Formats: sequence, C-alpha cells, structure tokens
Amino acid sequence: MISNSLYEYIDKESIGSDLICLLCHNPFIDPTVTQCGDTYCRQCIEKYMRNGSHCPSQSCNQLLSTDHLIPPSHNFISILDKLKVRCQLCEKTNINRGTFDEHIKTSCPECILDCPGKNIGCQWFGSRNEHDEHTKTCLFEKLGRMVDILYKVIENQSLDIEKLQKETQQQTTEIGQQKTEIEQQKAQLQQQQIQISDIQSENQTQKNGTASVCKQITILQEEINKLKSTALWFCK
Ligand SMILES: [Zn+2]
Ligand SMILES: [Zn+2]
Ligand SMILES: [Zn+2]
Ligand SMILES: [Zn+2]
Repeated sequence: MISNSLYEYIDKESIGSDLICLLCHNPFIDPTVTQCGDTYCRQCIEKYMRNGSHCPSQSCNQLLSTDHLIPPSHNFISILDKLKVRCQLCEKTNINRGTFDEHIKTSCPECILDCPGKNIGCQWFGSRNEHDEHTKTCLFEKLGRMVDILYKVIENQSLDIEKLQKETQQQTTEIGQQKTEIEQQKAQLQQQQIQISDIQSENQTQKNGTASVCKQITILQEEINKLKSTALWFCK
C-alpha cells in the first residue's frame, strides 16, 4: 500500500470510533482481529506484540497470540475503503480511500515519476504533469525503445538458432542411424562374398574331378583300342 502520509481524511472527527485503531488513533490500515475479538492495524498490533503480551484494550487485557490474528469481514473492509480522503499532492478531494493507490499510480497529476529511460541513464524525474512532455523529448527514452526493439530481434534470433540446433541434432541422429544400417549391409555383403568364394572353390574341385575322370576314360579307351587291335591280330 502507498504511504498513508500522502492523503488526509475528510472530516476525520465524524469517523466512528469502531473504525479507529486504539494504538495509532487513525482509521485501521490492513486491519486484523485478535483472538479476543478486538481489531487493530496489522502493523500496529504486530509492533505492539514485540513487547506486550496482553490485549492493549484496557477493558480486555487478554493474552495475545500471533497465531490467532485473522482478517475482519469483507463488509468491515469495504466500509474502511469508502472513507473519503484528500490527496495531499494534488489536493483532489473526495477520493475513496480504497482507490487512493490507484489514484497515485495512474492519475495523480502531482505524483513524482521517473523517466521511463531511467534504467538506461536518464536522471530526470518530475510530476506526472511534466512527465509526458519530458518523454516526448527524452533521448534516453527513444534509445530505450530502440533497445527494446533490438532485444526483441535478438530474442527472435535466439529462438531461430535454437530451432536450427534442434534440427541439426535430429539430422545427426538420422545420419547415425543410416551409418549403422550401412554397417549392417556391409557385414551382410562380406558374408555373401565368403559364401560365393566357398561355392567357387567347390566348383573348382568338381571341375578338377571331372578332368581326371575324362583322362581316365581316354586312357581306358586307348587300352580298349589296343585290346581291339590285338584281338583283330589273333583272328587273322
Ligand atoms: Zn493502528
Ligand atoms: Zn482484546
Ligand atoms: Zn493526487
Ligand atoms: Zn528521460
């Protein structure tokens, strides 16, 4: 919550005593209810309990416990939110206390703001009134916007690079798989070559066998011829 020193209550005397904190004598800020049923600002009672152990209400004086601080009803909070205050910066009056933070953050013309280019070096600060005028001419602010654009460009490029890296990784995996497949095919080919050379040497052995059978046949024929001519000679 924005400092309550930036506003003052309108017609404070008319605010009911049931809305006033016994410890700070102001309308409750962030109220909390003790175990004994009394209400205090959270900050006030927490600060009080660092030294005191019994309820500050004279008529109550019961033992307090930090474990038993509960928020009040929504209704009670909304009554507090509707208390009327005046902004001490711009003098605007009749603001609901519950919307005062918003008034400071979004509309109070006297609220002091830093230049949006503060983080890149602009030292300017001033009221919201002058702020727009300043940002129109501030070089830092313009530079800041360019820096933002550049950041976006870099961010996009980083995303592209990431995508490419992922694709490359996938391709590497695929290449690895293809390599393994080629290795397997190579091994199969080698096995087939071994089988082929086995068959070739078997063929050779069979050829050799056939050749020697042929030779024997020739020898036998020659012997038969010899026998034939001997037989013919005897028949004469
Ligand atoms: Zn208080
Ligand atoms: Zn009490
Ligand atoms: Zn204001
Ligand atoms: Zn600036």
